[in-house]
Amino acid sequence: MDSNDVGRREFLKKTMLAGAGLGAMSGLAGAQESDKEPGPAKPLDRVPRKELGDTGKTIPILLFGCSQVFDPTYDKMLHRGFKDGVDYLDTALVYASGQSHKTLAPFVKQVGRDKVWITSKAPHRRRRADVASFERDLETCLGQLEVDHLDLFFMHMLDDTKYLDKDYLQMGERLKKAKKTNFFGFSCHDGNVVELMNKAARVGGIDAIMFRYSFGQYGDKELNRAIDACKKAKIGLIAMKTQRSVPAEQEEVIKFKSKDFTLGQAKLKAVWADERIDSAVSHMDSLELLKENVAAARSPIKLGMADFHQLNRLAACTSGFACMGCSQYCQPHVVADTRIADSLRYLMYYECYDEPEEAKRLYRKMSPGEREIDGVDFAAATRACPEGVDIANRLKLAQEVLA
Ligand code: SF4
Repeated sequence: MDSNDVGRREFLKKTMLAGAGLGAMSGLAGAQESDKEPGPAKPLDRVPRKELGDTGKTIPILLFGCSQVFDPTYDKMLHRGFKDGVDYLDTALVYASGQSHKTLAPFVKQVGRDKVWITSKAPHRRRRADVASFERDLETCLGQLEVDHLDLFFMHMLDDTKYLDKDYLQMGERLKKAKKTNFFGFSCHDGNVVELMNKAARVGGIDAIMFRYSFGQYGDKELNRAIDACKKAKIGLIAMKTQRSVPAEQEEVIKFKSKDFTLGQAKLKAVWADERIDSAVSHMDSLELLKENVAAARSPIKLGMADFHQLNRLAACTSGFACMGCSQYCQPHVVADTRIADSLRYLMYYECYDEPEEAKRLYRKMSPGEREIDGVDFAAATRACPEGVDIANRLKLAQEVLA
């Protein structure tokens, strides 16, 4: 391995030896190692593939996040991605206000069902899903996509370990046996991600998990142990929210500079540098972003120490703006029903995703109690937040721009 090419473990080893965990890595900002000139490297023809867990199937390391409306006649982005090897569509019943499936269906017919991998998810967590509703929702997914099976069916946005009890695992087996889906798993955004992953590793029956993971969580010991447990259980691991989005003006503080990568590419590379992660999903809503991400995936050049150090500095400098969804830390300290992690996620959509209307729609869908901030004391929750988010002020901003 070139000394300039470091993986996650190698990087952690070096920085830990230097006496710094991630929480204190801002101190390393001035201790960058000099990078060696990489030799000439030819990009791969297509996005490389990895086996997803123990499924025996390979998937591209970059997945097409489909939370938008596509051109049903001929969608240039989907076709361009497909040509480059991004032949995995990640969608959900609720994406694009229910329009994602319907507008993906023509593309699937154009390229052929057996040429693309389709993952879908159902339902939204607050619909109080049960076995019967999951089975009904899967039929709806198939109907909207106009296919007879999915490659992977996810229980969407799980936040309760009861969904890994026997009834649900048996449902997964039943759906696979009935050939409604080839594989079964779940996605989890926030709350008890670690608990869910640990239970999945223990109970079996879960083929793959999609979870929030980025360079900002490299030093999270509990999460790392959960990832190791899932890996040992041969569960496929797909990273989402890899960009650890914060407002642009915050990111500019570190003035990221790399001879090989844009900041967005470096963030993806940091996730791919973790050998335990099988793939990363990206919501790609422009041809430019698709090309940028594909170029990063095809590039054989790995992140250098200087790149990693800049990412760590970014994580340290902007932690107060990046809500990681770990509501198990803050939520118990609030007496009211205010949904902290959800509100801050919608604020992220507003500030970072250029989706102000969707952010407002989601925010306004919450009940008045779930949006309540007046008279609510967030001091203890703020003290409990490992990211140092100023919860009261961020929620106030969310209310100002989204209500
Ligand atoms: S506010 Fe802090 S503790 Fe709460 S979910 Fe966000 S990052 Fe986690």
